[in-house]
Amino acid sequence: MEAYVDGELPAGHRAAVAAHLRVCPGCRTHAEMVRAIKAVLARCGWQPTVSGVSSRGGPRRSGR
Ligand SMILES: [Zn+2]
Repeated sequence: MEAYVDGELPAGHRAAVAAHLRVCPGCRTHAEMVRAIKAVLARCGWQPTVSGVSSRGGPRRSGR
């Protein structure tokens, strides 16, 4: 969904998502929320650097 907000989806997929947003208020709200958050973060000078975020592999399972 964030890929759609970022405009990274192919034209065909993007159209499909747009059509879905038209009939799904939940996803539409989520999309607008992500868009708003990105706008605020951009205003603060924050840059979406993904490097190093998932280097740990998510939830820790090495406990036992
Ligand atoms: Zn939906």
